Amino acid sequence: MTATTDFEIHPASGPLPAAQRAAVLEDPGFGQTFTDHMVTMRWSAERGWHDGRLEPYGSFTLEPATSVFHYGQAMFEGMKAYRQHDGSITLFRPEENAARFNASARRMAMPELPPEVFVESLELLVSQDRGWVPEGAGRSLYLRPFMIATDPALGFTHPSRTFLFCVVASPATAYFGGGPPTSLTVWLSTSFTRAVRGGTGFAKTGGNYAGAFAAGLEATAHGCDQVVWLDAMEHSWVEEMGGMNLFFVFAREGARPRLMTPALTGTLLPGITRDSLLRLAPRLGYDAVEGQISIDEWREECAAGTLTEVFACGTAAVIAPVGAVRSERECWTVGDGRPGPITLRLREELLGIQHGSAPDPDGWVRHVC
Ligand SMILES: *Cc1c(COP(=O)(O)O)cnc(C)c1O
Repeated sequence: MTATTDFEIHPASGPLPAAQRAAVLEDPGFGQTFTDHMVTMRWSAERGWHDGRLEPYGSFTLEPATSVFHYGQAMFEGMKAYRQHDGSITLFRPEENAARFNASARRMAMPELPPEVFVESLELLVSQDRGWVPEGAGRSLYLRPFMIATDPALGFTHPSRTFLFCVVASPATAYFGGGPPTSLTVWLSTSFTRAVRGGTGFAKTGGNYAGAFAAGLEATAHGCDQVVWLDAMEHSWVEEMGGMNLFFVFAREGARPRLMTPALTGTLLPGITRDSLLRLAPRLGYDAVEGQISIDEWREECAAGTLTEVFACGTAAVIAPVGAVRSERECWTVGDGRPGPITLRLREELLGIQHGSAPDPDGWVRHVC
């Protein structure tokens, strides 16, 4: 694993004028507009990582035979840069993204990137395009590091021998819109499966998403916002939701509230937001455990009033409350269908740490510029 950490710097000759950039930052949406620059780096079997560049955001030219177009050997990460109250810019636990990037790389037979080079590439892009980091809670600069296989050959007896790493950045409001969150209605997918043991469920690879779109359309056709994935064998154990992890909140009179998130079985994506909430919840007076829940338990505990809140979590949407559940056979509401108090408290606390208005006892925040 050789690497040159020297990035050649090629600034854009015509960055977007400040007034136009300000207009974009007024209401950035999600993943639609990209900043003036990107980072690229190449890997080959002979040279390892080389040719690191910060350069103007722009198109790639790739031969039609390029491996990634045919076999989907591709992976990505997702994280955000946050504007602090004093105007400075931070990242949130970027070493965790670096570690997960390499876990995905190993599963996809792609080259690992030294964690410090991964973080350096993010800091380089964020510093260069710092004017693109929006202000305000729930707003951020979404960073998308990714890697693709670039061998121009159709043989598939071995993985590609050349790869391209790239980081692009896009100003963002929280995924399901800014302001107070509204509850989602979710669809329990019993005919489609996202991941099986031994498969690629724990890796952030495009194919997992490619296979999920059909279930998303089914959810939309049933008036739902998102798909909840169940285990592949019995279609009864809850795994995760769309591109987010799930938490279940159990409250009993006189007892500490208990948060439960499905354990990492290899078929779930190990979310960094999920991990942060598992660590954060005890400080707020909640028990937090990894466990399992079936759809029957979900329905019955809601009916009994012991399962009071459900929410999804991930970098893009932070925390999104789940208010109602539907499947081919049944539908029910969670609590009164509105965002619950523990969901909102956790969301506020996490946003507070990310934007620097709440203490950061675990040292999750990394100052960039
Ligand atoms: C990225 C992702 C998540 C959330 O991970 P975070 O690190 O919290 O953003 C959850 N599930 C899937 C399928 C994902 O791709």
